[in-house]
Amino acid sequence: MSRVLVVEDEAHIAQGLRFNLEAEGYSAEIAGDGESATDRLLHKKEDFDAVVLDIMLPGKDGFSVVSELRAARNYVPVLMLTARSRPEDVLKGFAAGADDYLPKPFDLSILLARLQGLLRRSQWMRAAHSSRVSSTPDLREPGASDPHTVSDFGTFSFAGRTIDFGTLELRTPDNLIHLTLMESELLRHLVRNEGRIVSRKQILEEVWGLHEDTDTRAIDNFVVRLRRYIEDDPAQPRYLLTVRGVGYRFVAKPENE
Ligand code: CA
Repeated sequence: MSRVLVVEDEAHIAQGLRFNLEAEGYSAEIAGDGESATDRLLHKKEDFDAVVLDIMLPGKDGFSVVSELRAARNYVPVLMLTARSRPEDVLKGFAAGADDYLPKPFDLSILLARLQGLLRRSQWMRAAHSSRVSSTPDLREPGASDPHTVSDFGTFSFAGRTIDFGTLELRTPDNLIHLTLMESELLRHLVRNEGRIVSRKQILEEVWGLHEDTDTRAIDNFVVRLRRYIEDDPAQPRYLLTVRGVGYRFVAKPENE
């Protein structure tokens, strides 16, 4: 049974969510403010499979909660609830390390679908990670035969960098970077399509699971972050290229090398 922490100060929303999550077979608990959320997750080290995090909280807000988690290397999947669908809130949340977002008021079935998506991805990654020693999980799409797909061990190396999709780690010549689930998923999608143009719409559908209300600027923000991780000069990208008006293209071996 997946254990979900609902961080929300409005009691009727929090209790409604807990009731519905329990009806769907989750175990759900409520933290009424940011301080008690970080206290349970970081100080008491309670184990949750996912966190539904409201941004608008008294005292410590949702942005602070998620950035504290990530700073403490806690990578529990976080679905944040934004009060308005303000792009700047969404981008700020992603920059702080949230994995997905939903504008309030939300439709319960959409929240459950998003939550399931996050849990599926993290369970899949954990399974891939734990079976790395004993077997060779194949992370490729069914039928994929492209030589640039990730290796049997779920890693992909280029230009002195290695992405480990099982542990969500990116090793660069200078750094070891912990990726969030969504950063890793986007990288995996780009790597799978190495050399090919990937449209924003395709990313929305295949990485985010078709969230029609997701602002495509959220994708651009992810790309800005990924460039900070993998490019020598993020302002002059050589690996993660913008294709104007369309989307992005990942190139493992830039020309003129
Ligand atoms: Ca609130």
